[in-house]
Amino acid sequence: MLLVFKLQLIFLISILNYTSLQRVNPLPQYWDYQREGPDTWQQRYNACNGRAQSPINIRTCLVKYDKNLNPLCLNDFMVNTSLYVWNFTHNGHTIVVYPPTSVRLSITGANLSEIFYLVQFHFHWGYNAYQGSEHTIDGIKYPLEIHFVHEAQFSSSLTVLCVLFNLQVDDNPYINDLLSILNQTRNASIAIEKQIDISPLFPTFFSPRFYRYIGSLTTPPCTEGIIWIVLASTVPISENQLKIFIDNSVPSNFRDPQKLNSRNILVNFEPEKNLEVNDDYNKCIRRSSVCIEQRSILLISLVLFIFILQ
Ligand SMILES: [Zn+2]
Repeated sequence: MLLVFKLQLIFLISILNYTSLQRVNPLPQYWDYQREGPDTWQQRYNACNGRAQSPINIRTCLVKYDKNLNPLCLNDFMVNTSLYVWNFTHNGHTIVVYPPTSVRLSITGANLSEIFYLVQFHFHWGYNAYQGSEHTIDGIKYPLEIHFVHEAQFSSSLTVLCVLFNLQVDDNPYINDLLSILNQTRNASIAIEKQIDISPLFPTFFSPRFYRYIGSLTTPPCTEGIIWIVLASTVPISENQLKIFIDNSVPSNFRDPQKLNSRNILVNFEPEKNLEVNDDYNKCIRRSSVCIEQRSILLISLVLFIFILQ
């Protein structure tokens, strides 16, 4: 009997080593996504009215293919991150996940001037499964967006690696473990420490296609000079799985796309060529063959007209 009790005690202690749940004091709220929402941020934080803000709408017909853009390298992200004890904290705006201080996951390449180390990642979601992302592509909203925030080794500047999720009918089984933890951090002031493999949060690790531009933090103080790397491929998630975010104590936490102004969006892959800007400012459309035929007929008619006049 004593042996059984001892075994149970050892088992309990081992569980506590892997998982710990604690209450933390929420940060003071000077901004939010409702009453003190994004439209009001610039009153208190001047930079939120800047000319190089994030997020943006990426119009795929206006991106610039840069042959000299180095491949992006995600260093150690796929080397058994399940061994690490991550800290999940709801800070009143989002759920932030911190790596242990001993872990040095990093990104290089993508013409970054130095090595950038992961300091945290967090989530942006919406009221329903048809919104939630901060970045949009050709005006399309995605249901969830993760920001992997990296800090430079020497200069302390930031690079944010952005992963978008696409809605699908079936659950994505690879993210269930992570969602079960997030389910316990729906309310502010809850922190959980847990071992978890974060590799299913990436669409690919090998030379991913990406958009790169210079922007800002998407939350106050909206500091500019941040390098953004938005992965072009997405990770699937179902409407059922999104409920964990939609039913969160923060019902929505995305900022709308900001003006691109004179900034360039670089890509490391050949964009589709047969696209043009639509009258609708947010979109690119495929040049229709009918349209091309009509142009050809007009051109031939013009040539014939000039020929007859002569
Ligand atoms: Zn963010």
